[in-house]
Amino acid sequence: MSQMAVTITCGECGSGIHVLPTKDAEKTQCEVCHTEAPLNFDDNHFQGILKDCPCCGRKDFYKQKDFNRKVGVVLFIIAAIASIWTYGLSLIALWLVDLLLFKRLPLIAICYKCQSIFRNVSNIEEIYDFNHEMNDRIIYSDHDFKGEQLDH
Ligand SMILES: [Zn+2]
Ligand SMILES: [Zn+2]
Repeated sequence: MSQMAVTITCGECGSGIHVLPTKDAEKTQCEVCHTEAPLNFDDNHFQGILKDCPCCGRKDFYKQKDFNRKVGVVLFIIAAIASIWTYGLSLIALWLVDLLLFKRLPLIAICYKCQSIFRNVSNIEEIYDFNHEMNDRIIYSDHDFKGEQLDH
């Protein structure tokens, strides 16, 4: 079992800050703008269990594939341009690569409130997919679901 890895989004400049859950990690600092962010790791985090967000203290997370959208867009543009000479075959090739890669991508958990990203989460199966209504209510009206999944 590999250790959980956390990527915090800096509240000031939006940069990603990488941290590992350790007992003495009580705060971290953004490498770009040097803003400090407090951290609150507990025994769950040391075991890779995600129940509380170490950054904002919320309990609402969603899971998704660890997919780099920017890379995907660049690959699509290359394939689209190449399709002029390959009569569309490059697009079919990209679709196949995408299909194979996507299946093998690991799952990550993301905090709705502060956008922190969690990798190697051992209880990832307990975390639901992205929910638009929950996201809107957390982001725009600061609602706290306290870990209860909204489903209807
Ligand atoms: Zn920053
Ligand atoms: Zn959070």
